[in-house]
Amino acid sequence: MPSPAPAPAPMPHSPNGPDPAALSRIASWCDEREQRDGYLTDLRRLVEQESPSEDKALLDATADLILELLSVRLGEPSRTVRHRHPELGDVIEAEYDGDSGGTVTVVGHYDTVWPAGTVTDWPFTLTEGTLSGPGVFDMKAGLAQGIWALRALRALGLPRPTVRFVFNGDEETGSVISRPLIERATEDAVATLVMEPGGAWGIKAGRKGVGIFNLTTTGLEAHAGLDPAKGASAIHGLADVIRDLVAAADPARGTTVNVGRISGGTARNVIAGEATCLVDIRVSTQEEIERMDGVLAGLTATDPRVTLTVGGGWNRPPMRPGAAGRRLFALVDGVATHLRGPLAELYVGGGSDANFVAALGRPVLCGMGALGDGAHARHEHVTLADLPDRMALAAGTLLGLAGDRVPEGA
Ligand SMILES: [Zn+2]
Repeated sequence: MPSPAPAPAPMPHSPNGPDPAALSRIASWCDEREQRDGYLTDLRRLVEQESPSEDKALLDATADLILELLSVRLGEPSRTVRHRHPELGDVIEAEYDGDSGGTVTVVGHYDTVWPAGTVTDWPFTLTEGTLSGPGVFDMKAGLAQGIWALRALRALGLPRPTVRFVFNGDEETGSVISRPLIERATEDAVATLVMEPGGAWGIKAGRKGVGIFNLTTTGLEAHAGLDPAKGASAIHGLADVIRDLVAAADPARGTTVNVGRISGGTARNVIAGEATCLVDIRVSTQEEIERMDGVLAGLTATDPRVTLTVGGGWNRPPMRPGAAGRRLFALVDGVATHLRGPLAELYVGGGSDANFVAALGRPVLCGMGALGDGAHARHEHVTLADLPDRMALAAGTLLGLAGDRVPEGA
């Protein structure tokens, strides 16, 4: 007699993580010359295909290239959706059915901060063990790694979850169109891996929330010598506001304030009628978002004739690991320990698409991509020697998640 089925519950991860013998097979496969060469061919093509966030034609060509690489390396996806947009980069969703476990969403952005033509004077190069080129570290190496991680499991005949790739082309400009799509694509996922670059032998377990604000003061213009009392300086008013805003920063609680650009006024001898500044605020907690909202709402210029308008808002919520995120970290750490050693748990100021997923309480890890340095800088590079291990880390994590299934019942 069958007994009534118990309520399904997710299986806890094995504290030991995936099978060590399988991890060793993955590690040696990733280290083979053939795989390295194939991976580097893909990475070269991705870097040489430029993809500035604001160039629709180049973004489209990059999306085409990604779809081609997927089909060459993994075969035709079980399901593909290309969410088209007239100006921003299309969002690609490509899903490959697995043979065990649930769905893992693998996220990466293909846009870069580098303008068209950068690759002409800064081509993809390999010198002294480092790969260089625009966007190589942030984050084209990670895109290729995600694809090759699944390729490893398939080539070795190892269990794998359903993998849903989400590649967006608007991350560097705030993920305006991709955010709701990423939120939807992670709804039923047992885990989300964001293939952004990593740091040292680590994973980004937490990221700060980011607020992007513009403050504009409006005063009264007047001649600085003839009619000083008639004027009300927007610049002086903005200075008051900036002083109070900067004073509200609390680095001990993770809150920083940066005024990155300022402009206003017309001439030396004119009391300024308008002034504006761009502000970047980073926070580690929701409480700090609320506190800084209060600070912004309370800002005033000393001269009551100067008015202040606050524009902008919170672009990315802070990412803090919850219980599910901690379990996911433990699993990846188990894989990492087998490959090379325990992972550093990194908390960084930069936001990413992982912030959106974490804010919904879903397990997500960021910085699963390549090791190197210099994101958004001319010294951007990836360390070649770390690539096989990072590829194996992603593959081993997918393998570990293949066991993360809901039991069917007794
Ligand atoms: Zn990035």
